Amino acid sequence: SPDPTLRPERQPQDADRALRPQALEEFIGQQEARANLRVFIESARRREEAMDHVLFHGPPGLGKTTLAQIMARELGVNFKMTSGPVLAKAGDLAAILTNLEARDVLFIDEIHRMNPVVEEVLYPAMEDFELDLVIGEGPAARTVRIELQPFTLVGATTRLGLLTTPLRDRFGIPTRLQFYTTEELHEIVTRGARLLNVPTDPAGAHEIAKRARGTPRIAGRLLRRVVDFAVVEGDGRITKSLADGALTRLGVDLIGLDGADRRYLGMIAENYGGGPVGVETLAAALSESRDAIEDVIEPYLLQQGLIQRTPRGRMLTQKSWKHLGLEAPKGPDQ
Ligand code: ADP
Repeated sequence: SPDPTLRPERQPQDADRALRPQALEEFIGQQEARANLRVFIESARRREEAMDHVLFHGPPGLGKTTLAQIMARELGVNFKMTSGPVLAKAGDLAAILTNLEARDVLFIDEIHRMNPVVEEVLYPAMEDFELDLVIGEGPAARTVRIELQPFTLVGATTRLGLLTTPLRDRFGIPTRLQFYTTEELHEIVTRGARLLNVPTDPAGAHEIAKRARGTPRIAGRLLRRVVDFAVVEGDGRITKSLADGALTRLGVDLIGLDGADRRYLGMIAENYGGGPVGVETLAAALSESRDAIEDVIEPYLLQQGLIQRTPRGRMLTQKSWKHLGLEAPKGPDQ
């Protein structure tokens, strides 16, 4: 029976799959990471060894899973996928590890959310391709050592800071993924529109790219929604004005912020005088989890210079006040 802890495909994101680049050549952006990976992949191939373990970190939707799949394909090995939270027991991970073939890529998403007991199993596996399993209980318990095939672990995390040091230290290739530029997203949208067979004006693609929050996954989602509007309310073609109208109706503003972003900024402006305000306070006020705020909302706002993180909490910047169309209060903090 299929192992529930292994998810060869992520079901909810099936729509993403059509747009997923299949080769490093097709992957747009992340120049530095891509150039390095190319070297490490090629070297592993020539030496006929498992590639060293890779840790991708960065906000969701930037291509961590996609790059891991591409790595496996370019290495010519199997791709196995699981995630930190679904590995409940040490045995779950042991079962996956013992089934790997030589040089396979094992992808563990949300690796910072792994149970510490499971994480312990990973250390000798990563370092020496060995498992120490405890068999039996009480005085009869004994440890057996199992040799594993050499493999490549690819970990993905939205929060590098939440990884334990021993785990972090065992990745030979830590790689940070960056938000994409509008030009890169323009290319991604153009490629996506071509794959979806939708005629698209360059200005239309640019409008989607500009409002995609630096994130390919969002660009893909917005593209599909704009296509819906083009088909039903336009002549099937994505123009600038069609894209603009559709995105505005989807609640995406001119710089790509969505409802959650605006609620966050509005809360700091209107209830906390622009800050500083602590993240826990904000989470409670917005009824959002602290993780969602720190993983999803804040990274892009920080990158755009809309907020600042200070030791006393989050603060709006001038740019933010201007974007909200509000007057910044005059005070020692401003
Ligand atoms: P993550 O694992 O970082 O959350 P994914 O790898 O699942 O992100 O990427 C989300 C979607 O964005 C993918 O389905 C893929 O279609 C698209 N994508 C990501 N990176 C790129 C890229 N560089 N070029 C084109 N599409 C991309």
